[in-house]
Amino acid sequence: AGRMAFEEAGAGGVRHGRVPLGLKRKGLRVVVTGGAGFVGSHLVDRLLARGDSVIVVDNFFTGRKENVAHHAGNPNFEMIRHDVVEPILLEVDQIYHLACPASPVHYKFNPVKTIKTNVVGTLNMLGLAKRVGARFLLTSTSEVYGDPLQHPQVETYWGNVNPIGVRSCYDEGKRTAETLTMDYHRGANLEVRIARIFNTYGPRMCIDDGRVVSNFVAQVEGLMKLMEGDHVGPFNLGNPGEFTMLELAKVVQDTIDPNARIEFRANTADDPHKRKPDITKAKELLGWEPKVALRNGLPLMVQDFRTRIFGDQKQQQQ
Ligand code: NAD
Ligand code: UDP
Repeated sequence: AGRMAFEEAGAGGVRHGRVPLGLKRKGLRVVVTGGAGFVGSHLVDRLLARGDSVIVVDNFFTGRKENVAHHAGNPNFEMIRHDVVEPILLEVDQIYHLACPASPVHYKFNPVKTIKTNVVGTLNMLGLAKRVGARFLLTSTSEVYGDPLQHPQVETYWGNVNPIGVRSCYDEGKRTAETLTMDYHRGANLEVRIARIFNTYGPRMCIDDGRVVSNFVAQVEGLMKLMEGDHVGPFNLGNPGEFTMLELAKVVQDTIDPNARIEFRANTADDPHKRKPDITKAKELLGWEPKVALRNGLPLMVQDFRTRIFGDQKQQQQ
């Protein structure tokens, strides 16, 4: 009964947020691991806004309390400092499992910790989902395609990943996390969802993130549609708009400083040469597609970075 998400429960069950016609939706209890991070904190905003109770589980490796501080005092919001590599007991309806550093600078910092987070952390959250019968969503990544030999990438492509390289802790970690998710789905009948997110940018991104910007944080809406929908996935969530790094550098130059100098440097090891999501499946089955073009999204992130680096203008004037 603790799992009942609606005021009336019809035959056939109404768990996990499916809203049968005519029933008033009651808030769900949702865990967001990694909810103090960049994508997670935007997701938390959206879930609280629609009336859910949200528990953030985060060890603050790359996340910041400031990202969710505006919810302090909200009785529907709770934050637990916890490392997902350790087991945890919670009673919830849905688990959005995001905990994992996403930027190469962060995930390469301690590769063993990264793979433990992906493998042991995901196992623990799947164990939790199994115990309480919660629906589980994994935020996987375009990195599962490695340096792709197929372009654009469709979800059915198995990828081209180096198993022993400096990015493998993340790429192979996420591939194993997907495997675990599907094994719990098939073996324990767990309701699961898998999203493969392509590089995302926007306000609250770590200032030292260092990745190329390509998709505005609107991915969050795709995650919620995926969780509430009927399809397991995996689904590519990304922007199929393609541009070269030089074209991108010029947009950044236009947005920030026309005099900024563009430098050409050697690439890092195993960095994919070319990537572009095929999002036909997300469009058809989730009704989702990105809406923010780079030239419109970039200024929003730039403003957020300026405020965090230089303080807001009011403070500067004082
Ligand atoms: P982020 O680094 O901002 O957020 C990750 C969060 O997880 C942080 O709050 C961090 O403190 C927390 N965390 C890390 N290890 C943890 C652990 N062991 N226990 C508990 N918490 C832990 O990254 P993000 O960009 O918000 O990414 C969120 C998720 O989306 C990640 O799983 C990432 O792999 C995936 N993803 C992101 C992108 C992207 O472009 N941002 C692309 C593909 C996939
Ligand atoms: N787990 C957890 N919280 C729970 C239930 C399980 O953290 O509420 C962890 C558990 O400690 C184990 C993992 O999830 O490490 C997998 O649990 P499961 O029950 O699927 O497997 P088992 O413990 O039987 O190997």
